[in-house]
Amino acid sequence: MLKLEQVSAGYGPVQALHEVSFEAVPGEVLCLLGRNGAGKTTTLKAIMGLVKPSGGKVLLNGENISALPPQEAPKRGIGYIPQGRRLFSELTVEENIEIGLMARDKGPATREHVLDMFPRLRERLHQRADTLSGGEQQMLATARALCLEPSVLMLDEPTEGLQPSMIDIIRETIVEMRRQGVAVILVEQRIEAVLSLADRVAFLENGRRREIVPVADLRADPALLHKYVGV
Ligand code: ATP
Repeated sequence: MLKLEQVSAGYGPVQALHEVSFEAVPGEVLCLLGRNGAGKTTTLKAIMGLVKPSGGKVLLNGENISALPPQEAPKRGIGYIPQGRRLFSELTVEENIEIGLMARDKGPATREHVLDMFPRLRERLHQRADTLSGGEQQMLATARALCLEPSVLMLDEPTEGLQPSMIDIIRETIVEMRRQGVAVILVEQRIEAVLSLADRVAFLENGRRREIVPVADLRADPALLHKYVGV
């Protein structure tokens, strides 16, 4: 169980998060939604230890992980696919996968399981990551995170710029992770994707957490969408 308790964080003089609290629940997709600059990416970075909270706690199964160095989050089973994917571009598909496995000492069984989920990657094991299509790069970033056998999976706008067939593959992967009991945290701008994938939506505004609502409530009454994202 991942829990944020009143997390504040920022960049030098810029305070980007003000006392943000929420829980990510196993087997659930939680969407973070808000305007540009609301603090969605910073929230994920704070969970990873990539920005250090100036206040509050990030608790993973009761342990406060907010003061740990960033390499500790993957070791504890938190997978993070940042916006823009950040692969090792000069390494091959296989080498990128290997790095994912090494981060948490996973072996060939995990590798095969992950490659079974992405047959396109299996066909391209020796291809350099920077020669993959955008959708294939997103698959590789996702596959690398799944090599951790994560209990928490965080995706920052994973379908940005992808064609519909690729979007479907990423979406199916998220649904499968939820089915396997992973706690998924998704930053997603496309409202139809939020409404179809999320179980709960947490609205962020100016670095503060506003309402958290079950997605069914938003379908019935989209007023909060108007209020926080202007659609
Ligand atoms: P977007 O939808 O545009 O990606 P976001 O909700 O993910 O936005 P963040 O990227 O978390 O928002 O940014 C929150 C605030 O922190 C913004 O005011 C932003 O300008 C600021 N910020 C983000 N990264 C940095 C940085 N490296 N240095 C200084 N300020 C930053």
